[in-house]
Amino acid sequence: MAHVTRQVEEAAARLNAGGLVAMPTETVYGLAARADLPEAVAQVFRMKGRPSTNPLIVHLSDASEATAWAADIPDIAKHLMQHFWPGPLTLVFQARPEVSRHITAGQDTVALRVPAHSLARQLIQAVGHALVAPSANRYMSVSPTTAEHVVTQFSGEDLLILDGGPSSVGLESTILSALPGDTLRLLRPGMLDLAAVEVIAGESVSDDVPDTIRVPGQHRRHYAPHTRLCGFSAADAGAWQQDLADSQIGWILCGSPIAPDGPAIQLGAEADAYARRFYDALYQLDARKLKRIWVERPPEGARWQAIRNRLERAITPPD
Ligand code: AMP
Ligand code: MG
Repeated sequence: MAHVTRQVEEAAARLNAGGLVAMPTETVYGLAARADLPEAVAQVFRMKGRPSTNPLIVHLSDASEATAWAADIPDIAKHLMQHFWPGPLTLVFQARPEVSRHITAGQDTVALRVPAHSLARQLIQAVGHALVAPSANRYMSVSPTTAEHVVTQFSGEDLLILDGGPSSVGLESTILSALPGDTLRLLRPGMLDLAAVEVIAGESVSDDVPDTIRVPGQHRRHYAPHTRLCGFSAADAGAWQQDLADSQIGWILCGSPIAPDGPAIQLGAEADAYARRFYDALYQLDARKLKRIWVERPPEGARWQAIRNRLERAITPPD
């Protein structure tokens, strides 16, 4: 383990005293609290304005800690843990009876992840306990991928922010359920390559989620900036074309060489690079108080599934 900095020590002390810390991870920044301190966990829900029906992911520093939380770890899940942890994969297991139902939102399943960011792992180890760490933003708004984004979400709150630089993945983790006797199911797409998951698992991942598995946090409107966000395809004529000459309209582009008069952020047509900068583009354009933001719709295809999923929820519904 690398030398633990004073900053990590201070953050660990905060968490051990029942406080909250914004923790960098490779997916997005998390609002961390000790998972075994009910008052600290309650404060996470309060600070985010998150409904108590929306469960939290438990962040571990090592896969060996999973047995303290999961009642049953199927062999397929063990392979996935070995291969993809630490990393942007969350697995949902049958929970041990002693796991707090505040964390699981009353369900008898628990979601676990080992983040790959070195500061996150150092912090969890320094604390010596697992951490809950939902995205460090207010409920339904844009997830933070830099320390500055967290500041804009929680200015004035008593929150220590550990700056670990920009998140390298930039979208929330892929969530799979790994329940005993059931097939793997995709509960939330992320940037993890599902084809690689299927190779390691030796079985296919189902998109079908039965009613018995609740998947909260997938509201129609989520991840949304304040500015009205509209989608367009550069290949189709439409209302977006008249807006090209309006300097008060912003643009997020996915490779098209169009040159609007307003502020434009070109995220390119490569999915991983796009994902890394997508939330930052929303934060940047939102701060400019524009009339509207046009987002070029990304292509079809598996590499873009998670990005399309977030975009659908960020785009303002038509009146
Ligand atoms: P995040 O907002 O990134 O912290 O992710 C939390 C999301 O993980 C929730 O909104 C759920 O979709 C999912 N999740 C967490 N725990 C469970 C669980 N026990 N069962 C099913 N989904 C879960
Ligand atoms: Mg979130």
